[in-house]
Formats: sequence, structure tokens, C-alpha cells
Amino acid sequence: MRAIAFGFPKLGEKREFKKLLEEFWKGSITESDLLKGIGELKVWRSDLYRKFTDCVPSNELSLYDFMLDTAVMVGAVPSRFGEYRGIETYFEMARGRHALEMTKWFNTNYHYLVPEIESEDFHLLRNFPLDDYTFLKEKGFENTPHIIGPYTFLKLSKAFKKKGGEVPILEIERIEDPSQMAKLSERLTEVYLEVLKSLKNSGCLWVHIEEPALVLDTEEWEWDVVHNVYGKLSESGIRIAVFTYYESVSDYHRFISLPVNALHLDLVHGPENLENIRKYGFPKDKELIAGVINGRQPWRANLVEKLDLMRELSEKVGDLAVSNSCPLFHLPVTKEPESSLPGGLRERLAFAKEKLEELNLLKTAFGGDEDALKRVEDSQRIVELSFGENPEVRRRITSLSEEDFRRELPYEERDKIQREILKLPLFPTTTIGSYPQTPEVRKMRTAFRSGKVSKNEYTEFIRSQIRKVISFQEEVGLDVLVHGEFERTDMVEFFAFKMDGIATTQHGWVLSYGSRVYRPPIIYGDVSRPEPMTLDEILYAQSLTHKPVKGMLTGPVTILNWSYYREDVPKKEIAYQIALALLDEVKDLEKAGIKIIQIDEPAFREGVPLKRKDWQDYFGWAVKAFRLCSRANPETQIHTHMCYSEFNEIIEYIYQMDFDVISIEASRSKGEIITAFEKFSGWDRQIGIGVYDIHSPAIPAKEEMKGVMERAMKVLDPELLWVNPDCGLKTRRWEEVEPALKNMVEMTGELRSEISARV
Ligand code: GLN
Ligand code: ZN
Repeated sequence: MRAIAFGFPKLGEKREFKKLLEEFWKGSITESDLLKGIGELKVWRSDLYRKFTDCVPSNELSLYDFMLDTAVMVGAVPSRFGEYRGIETYFEMARGRHALEMTKWFNTNYHYLVPEIESEDFHLLRNFPLDDYTFLKEKGFENTPHIIGPYTFLKLSKAFKKKGGEVPILEIERIEDPSQMAKLSERLTEVYLEVLKSLKNSGCLWVHIEEPALVLDTEEWEWDVVHNVYGKLSESGIRIAVFTYYESVSDYHRFISLPVNALHLDLVHGPENLENIRKYGFPKDKELIAGVINGRQPWRANLVEKLDLMRELSEKVGDLAVSNSCPLFHLPVTKEPESSLPGGLRERLAFAKEKLEELNLLKTAFGGDEDALKRVEDSQRIVELSFGENPEVRRRITSLSEEDFRRELPYEERDKIQREILKLPLFPTTTIGSYPQTPEVRKMRTAFRSGKVSKNEYTEFIRSQIRKVISFQEEVGLDVLVHGEFERTDMVEFFAFKMDGIATTQHGWVLSYGSRVYRPPIIYGDVSRPEPMTLDEILYAQSLTHKPVKGMLTGPVTILNWSYYREDVPKKEIAYQIALALLDEVKDLEKAGIKIIQIDEPAFREGVPLKRKDWQDYFGWAVKAFRLCSRANPETQIHTHMCYSEFNEIIEYIYQMDFDVISIEASRSKGEIITAFEKFSGWDRQIGIGVYDIHSPAIPAKEEMKGVMERAMKVLDPELLWVNPDCGLKTRRWEEVEPALKNMVEMTGELRSEISARV
């Protein structure tokens, strides 16, 4: 039995990858320094792969993103970038002024660049797989290139399409038309074939082609495309393994009949793959690469169970390999340097490097090695010990009743009471929460965390920032104020620091995109709030002004979706535990006189399962978790915030969250917001229209913002509308924020007079 791992994190043990890239972008190192550093990282990871497994994957250490690499490989460089000039054009496509759009990779927190296909004219522009194969071969590693497959590439790209009647227009969108897909895939496959042949000619034995898009709901005609593609690629003569992950494949029969030599299945996420193997068997002429070690969660596996599973599989299939369920880049590199985790947690963790060790152990134990078998048993003992339980939290969960998920009064009545209390003008103006996190603010926070600055000194510093931001907002004339979030590193990590049952790491960095990293917290036990988390700052801010200051919380679904979570308790229950901790905070804020509480849920949508059939279940508990934490008194106005505007498919569920006000993105998406709310009959909640894009440093013009409001008013009653930027301002500079908000408030004033003149 072979052990095959893939997708090891690019970062390196000391975030070398990030440093190299950023130094290069700053101009402090040259291209050849960069490539030399990257080459060293490649050798380092190949050594690791070789030490623990039987395969050294290559072509995995992309300089920015593997989808971008694939686009460049096949010559899909949009014409606005001109002739491809190597690394310069590459980074322009990734992060230049007119960069490709970036979006979430499946249901993960990794972001990829969306290729834009202007024509069918694919051609081999850069043979990255061959270059990498040769590079590592020369360093002494026989290796196996990983390549994003043609189907997944097309499925996740956008292509131009002629539309309209007499005057045709070109529109760029996802490929949903069978004939367009067939045509594009044909030419694309020829380029792939060229790559595979070049590899074969250089002595390469295997390629691993990743087709995760096959786990999405896939139609019959799409499977036909896939079969055509692999029929053609099999002509190359090189051995091919097709990898799928994040879920079960959408059609097991069509998948296992692909004309290739090996198939990787995710046997951790979604039950169908395993059920299908048990029910229908697996072709004897192919190798099964069984993804049994979880690549997405940082837990040590129960290897006794995994070993049993491998033994069972070995009776059903010909060749068998043990593997990780999905790429390992969703995990930090190693747990080795973590020294301040809660007691007992460390030995339960396995980050990427430790997952390689697990694969190795499984393989050796499978071969009958005594010592390995003993260690396999040890893993079970550790995993099965109960851990992190809190009886009080358990009790609260079991005693929940339907009432806990319902506010006392319906929206209509709450609205009347709240309007009476708040007395806000038409189109109330506000911001989403954070204000510029200047270098000074970041420096103070780090100094405080490392103990260089005393608690008193730090509190006084944060208060001075709050004073500044409150008087700024009053001067500009905003109606509903915020405290600025200067005390928060990150909207999830901040709450993780404060809650019991959630750990944070010191070095557990994971790439989110490009060189951008974050440290996901680890939910390891029952979650509770030992003491108030946000009260001091919010109450201080409120004490400085007569205008309402919003209490600012991160919602339970977002905290869960942006953290690792335990597997011994259903996700739903973890969400409820977090919600109860937040509810305690809501109650405290209320008691202290705070009248508006915003509970951010930017990750509400991205937790959506890959398969439609699972949506109902997800939204069922996600909606309820939000309702549980937002069960405030009728007098308290509950806001939520989401950074996007694609509500078309989920608007029903969003409505069920039963907030009073939702603030959303509306400027980048132009008309899109309107369609969702237009189709929903009886929308009666207030909406904060994100009238300008905070991701851009440009100062928004009044006319532009007014245009966004005018569009919204075509569909929504003006009484329902608020005015705000489309997200928090923490990444912007004060020089940008000041004029932008001034314009926004002025625009609102003008709009108010226009409306009253119209009446
Ligand atoms: N309140 C948060 C902020 O303003 C919201 C951030 C987000 O939606 N991603 O920063
Ligand atoms: Zn946002």
C-alpha cells in the first residue's frame, strides 16, 4: 500500500513564502532571489513528502494561486494585460490595477483568481508542470506534478459570450451552456495533452489531475464533457490519477468509469463515497487513493478506525493507497512551535506535517509493523478521552425551547417601538464598525499582547482612540455611531481570545490568498463566556455622546465558519453554544442601556454546503443560531451585516433570521441587490445600503452614491433604507475615510431634501 499526500501548505515553517513574496513586491529582492528562495522551499517540502510518503507532488508551490497558474499555462491571459511578459504580467493578473476577480475556493477560506476566457484560442504558454518536474528531478526527487483539471478549470472560470439581439453584446459569465463548454473543453484538452506528453517524454511516470468540481451537483452533459476530456488525455500514455475532494463525487458510476489509472476519493466529507464503494465495489483495474486523513481539520485521527477502514477497502479493491481527504493547505504547517495551548490540547492536534506522519503510520501499521500498531492504538486512547466539557453549557443547550429562538414581538411592532425610542431621520447614516487600524494602533496591540505595555496604559490608549473616533463621527454628522474596533485584531480571533472552549495559536498561520495569512482559532471544547467581552469599550464610547452607539459582535455562524471545530459534537450544537455566549453579551449590553446591537455575519453564506440537498439542514441551524443570540428585548434594534449582495438564492433564509436591519454591499454589484429584493414579496426589514466600495482607496463621488440609492428606491420603500459604506473601514487610511464619509453624509442630506420636496 502506498501513502500519497498532497497540497502541503506553501507558507513554510517560518512564513518564508510570505516574506519572499512581499520582499519581492516591495522591490527589496530581485526575481532571481525570489525564485531561489522558492526553490529552497520546494526542496524542503519535497524532503518532507519523501520522508513520510511514497510520492513527491510537484507543481504545488504556485507563486500566487494555482488557478492563475493554470490560466497562464493554457494561455488564458486577458488582452488587457498585453503580451505575457513573465512574472511581471503574472503579478499584474494577480494583484495589479485590473487584476482578475478573486473568489472563495469551494466551501473553504482560500481565495482563487477567476480565469477569464476571451476565446477558444488556448495554447501552451508556460509549461509549469514540466518546469517543476525537471527542477525537482535535478534535485534528486522523482516527482508527480499536480495539475488542476480541464473540467474544474472551465467550471470555475468565466468566459465571454455573445448575447442580445440585433446589437450583440459580449458578457462574461460562468459557463453554463453545453455547446460552449464542449467547444472550450475540446481545444483546452489538446493543450493539456501536450503538457502530459511533454512530461511523459521527460520520464515522468504519473500525473495527478485535480477535479474537485466533480463533487458539485454535476449534470449528465457535464459528465459527458469529463469523459471526453479524459478519453483524450489517456492517449498521452502517462499514468493519470484523478483527485476529487471536499465532498463525495456527484455521480459515482460515471466517476469510476473514467479511463484513467487511479482515482482519489474523499472518504471524510460526506458519506456517499464510502457507501457507494460498499454498495457497488470499485474497479479492479484502478488504484483507489483513499482520502481518509482529514485535510481540513487539525485533529489527530483515531487511527484504529482508519486502519480498520483501510483493511476493509483492501478487500474490495485491487491497488490501494492511503491519502489525505483534501489538500493540506487548509492547515498550519506544524504544531511543533505551539507552546501556550490549553493543557491536553496539543497532543490532540495534527497540523499538516503531523498529518504526513499519520499517513506514514497507517501505512506501516497496515504492513504489520508491531511498533506502528502500538502507536495506532495510542492514538485511539488519546482521541477517545473526553475533553473540554462544560456541564453548565450542556445543560443550557438541552433546555432550549422553541421560544428561545423567537423574539417576543413581531417585527412590525418592534419597529414602531424602536422608531419611537431612536427618533432617527429618514435614511439614517452609519458605518459598519471598524475605523482605520493605523500602524500606531497595531503596534500598541502587539505590545500589549507581548506584555511590553501595561493593561492600564493600553486601556487608556484604546480610550483615546475611541474619543477621537466618536468626535470625528459627530463632526461629520453620522446618525448612529460605532466605537471603532481598535481593540480587535480580527473580528473572529478577538472573540476567540475571550471565550472559553476556543483556543488561539501563536504560529498557526494559513494562507487566505496571495501572501495574506490568518490564524484560525480552534474550537476544542464547550463554548462559554466567562465575563463580558465588549462592554467596557462600547459603554465608554456611549458615555461620550448622546447619539446611539452600536454594540458590535461577531455572529455565531461566522465565528464557527472561520474557525476549526471539534468533531465530537454536531456543528449545529457548536453554533448554539457560541450563540448562547453571545446572547449573554447582548443581554449585558441591553442592560447597560445600549439600544442598537449589530451582529456581523459575513461568513453566513460561505458555509453553504456544496450540494443543494444539504442546504435545508445548514440554513435550518444557521438561521436558528442567529436568532438564538439575537433574542433581545423588542426595544433593542438588532442589526446584522454581510459584505456581499448575492442574495438571490438565499433571500428566504436571510429573511428568516428576523433581524431589524441588515447592511449589505450594493455599489460593486450595481443592480444585483434589486433583483433579489424585487422577487421577494413582502420584504419589510430595513436595509443599510452599502453605497460605496471600501476596498478601493478612491473617494466616492456624491452622484455615484446617490445613483445607488436611487436604484434601491425603485424597489424598496425609502422608510426602510439606511446609508452606509459596504464594509468596515479598518483597511483604509484616515485621509480616505474622512472625505468619503463627508460626501456620504452630504449626499444623504441632499437626498432627504429631494424626497421631502417630492412629497
Ligand atoms: N464590524 C466589522 C468591521 O467593520 C465587520 C467586518 C466584516 O464584515 N468583514 O470591521
Ligand atoms: Zn463586511
